Amino acid sequence: MINNSKIWIVSDVDGTLMDHFYDLTPAKETIAWLQRLGIPVILCTSKTKSEVQIIRDDLNLKDPYIVENGGAIYGEYSNGKEWETILGKSYTLLEKILDNLSENINFKLRPINTLTDDEATNLTGLEGESLNLMRDRHWSMAFLNPPDIFNEDLKRLCPKYNVEIFRGNRMSHLLSKNSNKGLAIKKLLSKNKNSNLKIIGLGDSPNDLPLLKNANYKIVISGIKGPNQLLLNELKGMEFCISKKPHGYGWKDEVYKFVTKILNT
Ligand SMILES: [Mg+2]
Repeated sequence: MINNSKIWIVSDVDGTLMDHFYDLTPAKETIAWLQRLGIPVILCTSKTKSEVQIIRDDLNLKDPYIVENGGAIYGEYSNGKEWETILGKSYTLLEKILDNLSENINFKLRPINTLTDDEATNLTGLEGESLNLMRDRHWSMAFLNPPDIFNEDLKRLCPKYNVEIFRGNRMSHLLSKNSNKGLAIKKLLSKNKNSNLKIIGLGDSPNDLPLLKNANYKIVISGIKGPNQLLLNELKGMEFCISKKPHGYGWKDEVYKFVTKILNT
């Protein structure tokens, strides 16, 4: 399923591999270099399968990929047929849970899929058909970031419903407790036979914490205004590095640095 490379790149997409204008250009050359080395690039994102398929085609990637914040994993068998592993709760169930949470905190938590086209474009910068790809969610629930004053209450209520909330830069995600980026990586690892594997993990916001925790090398990708402070707080006490440059430019430099370091040891 995955070749026996001793390195995996596991990377968030939004804000990490590409900037907030969805530009993949800076990372492209590095991805082609990794492909020549036989190193898989496993995209691990809050995006939907429909959105990731377009990015994979653009980058010519054939490696497995994790969507909806770990809600599902997809890959290809050697005959080209697709496999799927579901870790999340269904969208319908998560929708009910979000309603219950809204009642509990007495504030209407609003699913991203109920925004009008204009509202969604303002929030995400996506337009037209891209909006429909974003709405094609099955195993996670994206909703508008609630005001900070509700954070504590929501955190306290989540265990009651067996869910977790991850706050991203643009939106929050409600997920089954059994589906986050880290659990999805663990699942992929369980299918791997190489015991000497090193994972280089790259992310830019708190929803990447489970991803980074499951990586041997943890890389925080900075934004234009520097790294996400909430993520840095969560990583306290762990060894990690912060990219000097933002988004894809930082990604490219750090991936190159760590891959050459591992290959030369
Ligand atoms: Mg991100």
